Amino acid sequence: MLVDKKTFKNDFKKKLMTLYAEDIDNSSKLHQYLALGSLIKEYSAQKWMNTNNQYAKESRKQVYYFSMEFLIGRLLGSNILNLDIYDICEEGLSELGINLEELQEVENDAGLGNGGLGRLAACFLDSMASLGIPGHGCGIRYDYGLFEQKIVDGYQVEIPDNWLRDGNVWEVRREDKAIVVKFGGEVIQTEKDGKLSFEHINYESVLAVPYDTPIIGYKNNTVNTMRLWRAETIDKDFDLESFSKGQYSKAVEHKYSIESISQVLYPDDTRIDGKILRLKQQYFFVSAGLKSIIRSYKKTGRPIEEIHNYIQVHINDTHPSIAVAEFMRILIDEENLPWDEAWKMTTEVMAYTNHTILAEALEKWSIELFKKLLPRVFMIIDEINERFCKEVFEKYNDLEKVHKMAIIADGSINMAYLAIVGSHSVNGVAKLHTEILKSRELHNFYEFYPEKFNNKTNGITHRRWLMKSNPRLCELITDTIGTKWIEAPEKLIDLIVYSEDENFKNKLHEIKQNNKIRFAEMVKAKYGISIDPNSIFDVQVKRLHAYKRQLLNVFNILNLYYKLKDDPNLDIVPRTFFFGAKAAPGYYLAKRTIKLINTVANLVNNDTTINGKIKVLFLENYSVSLAEKIIPCADVSEQISTTTKEASGTGNMKFMMNGAITIATLDGANVEIHEKVGDKNIVIFGMKKDEVMNYEKNKNYNAAYYYNNDPRIKRIVDSLIDGSLGVPKSEFEDIYKYLLANNDEFFVLKDFDDYVEAQNRINLLYKNQSKWLEMSAVNIAYSGDFSSDNTIKNYAKEIWHVNPVNIKLKKN
Ligand SMILES: *Cc1c(COP(=O)(O)O)cnc(C)c1O
Repeated sequence: MLVDKKTFKNDFKKKLMTLYAEDIDNSSKLHQYLALGSLIKEYSAQKWMNTNNQYAKESRKQVYYFSMEFLIGRLLGSNILNLDIYDICEEGLSELGINLEELQEVENDAGLGNGGLGRLAACFLDSMASLGIPGHGCGIRYDYGLFEQKIVDGYQVEIPDNWLRDGNVWEVRREDKAIVVKFGGEVIQTEKDGKLSFEHINYESVLAVPYDTPIIGYKNNTVNTMRLWRAETIDKDFDLESFSKGQYSKAVEHKYSIESISQVLYPDDTRIDGKILRLKQQYFFVSAGLKSIIRSYKKTGRPIEEIHNYIQVHINDTHPSIAVAEFMRILIDEENLPWDEAWKMTTEVMAYTNHTILAEALEKWSIELFKKLLPRVFMIIDEINERFCKEVFEKYNDLEKVHKMAIIADGSINMAYLAIVGSHSVNGVAKLHTEILKSRELHNFYEFYPEKFNNKTNGITHRRWLMKSNPRLCELITDTIGTKWIEAPEKLIDLIVYSEDENFKNKLHEIKQNNKIRFAEMVKAKYGISIDPNSIFDVQVKRLHAYKRQLLNVFNILNLYYKLKDDPNLDIVPRTFFFGAKAAPGYYLAKRTIKLINTVANLVNNDTTINGKIKVLFLENYSVSLAEKIIPCADVSEQISTTTKEASGTGNMKFMMNGAITIATLDGANVEIHEKVGDKNIVIFGMKKDEVMNYEKNKNYNAAYYYNNDPRIKRIVDSLIDGSLGVPKSEFEDIYKYLLANNDEFFVLKDFDDYVEAQNRINLLYKNQSKWLEMSAVNIAYSGDFSSDNTIKNYAKEIWHVNPVNIKLKKN
């Protein structure tokens, strides 16, 4: 055991005193949290050092997961859980008069990501450490994470997320390991003994300082590292020359311009902002990351020519794809390797995950802009492109095809293509998504490199999303089938025999009810709204995006509301609709949708004639910590994206694992959830993949038809502009136009009827509680296959070819 209760209590009191010269009675919750966090980090330090030492000493192959985003959330609870000292801490603190749960609330979420993609990276880090796989994160230490959302008069207002305000107990700044990253300048080409060499001059240097956070494995001795880079000026403070000339503000400007590189996370989910600062961010962390990896590899004394046997670099979405060119640049310019050898090594090191087929998310950079910022890297990409185009031409003798597949074409660089050409593996994130990539979006590349393409369906860590977020459900599971599922989540399937056991189902019901009651109390305290814990908790929480179709959900609510107005005695189970969603600050339609949800909430919640049968609640500031609270309360999980548009989804898996019933289109990983639980245990509706693709190909969808032929739709859509929602008519005019004049890009009106019918099925199913609980149990039973442990095992075996390492615990 790491520590016993008595020692823990003493350690904690001592920590409070040494850090703040305070005892428990005189310390704030913040100081208590910081003291506890710092103590927990201390408890993990020995394992952290051992892990690093053992990887180096045994020359273990290591994975570096490069990602612009890590949506980590809070670490206190999960670190205590993974160190297996939860009970000791909870009881020990309780004896000191401190509530551990309350202390956890003090921690600011590390919100260094937008949504699913960043959260996936965080789940993967947890799984790699817990499986003993040598795998680390590499990213940016943003001063400000994803904005904090406030709702004012129904509108989203963005507030900077100053998550570092109270300090960050988990990180270690390692200025001694800083790296210089170079921007701009020119390249001089010289020839010596028939060999070309390139000198980069007049560049601007930016210092990349690493901040390391321990990633603690579950009940093992592995502690991996998440290394995030911060941009700083080399001369520390400011440009002395300007300063001495009395140009103080100019001197400081320089410092700010450099630090701006790691200042803020781009708040766009799936849409790409083509600003140069974003390219700077990408190159900044990729260059620093690769240089530091090569530096530590060289310390082992092995020759650079063998590096591909010891490292894997994973490119999480297209954002870090510049890694392909930067790795080549380092091997060629700094390590003096010939092109062909460097290229072979690079493709063996790199692996790429594609996360989306949405065209607006494809990373493309204008040649002009790119060349100016990264002249030498551009030359490398140019050469990669030329050699690749030659290969394509040799194979097909077809110039049109060459043009279609070229990395550089029509004045811009297609970064996804660079990632594909430069990697040995290209994977999609769910079966359907990978199939679409192979058959449509990346068909030419699939034909050219069939061996590179593979699927790795996303996953979630069951430690955070079940053990930590729903402890009472865990207790029930363990009481029922023992503890094996904790180390082997696929063993949750043993629950299947209890899905018809009334005793088990009653307990399952009781746990869900308790979670709902607790949440209702929080809602009452925070929003002053009373919600009925006996109502169906119907939850759609995810980023706000047209393709995710929060609008479809709202339209069903309005339909239900009008039905209740017409017939107040309508026999339905009371329902509470929850939404949680941030909209990108520049995404106009998404922000209007938030206003619409709040407007409908206002209308419905204050209408006494419907007897409180439905309520609508928009939960402010959806984040990891809020997700952990709402998901265990959900009866219904809304996964209603337009088929083909959601690459995988991971929210769907979190809900399933907590026993919610999914109402879903056959999109992303919903397809695989459906495959596992079967028709009887999920409610499927909506257009199928081929239908959507045919409409898109033939361009023959007609939204107006549904408006003109379905009176329910007409009434709802008209209410957007006729003042009946109680706001000025202009408020939702643009949503109205989007649906009719712009022909409803994501088929909301087309799927409306089927969705309403599916919601009726939910209502009927819920009335049969015994059946409902059986479905719930079946969902939990099959959810183990969606643990990211399973996903990571597949990445390790089929892409990275890395093995777990058993870290030995030795104390110094
Ligand atoms: C899981 C998660 C997401 C992803 O949700 P999807 O429904 O898959 O889009 C987004 N944000 C947060 C905070 C999450 O925890």
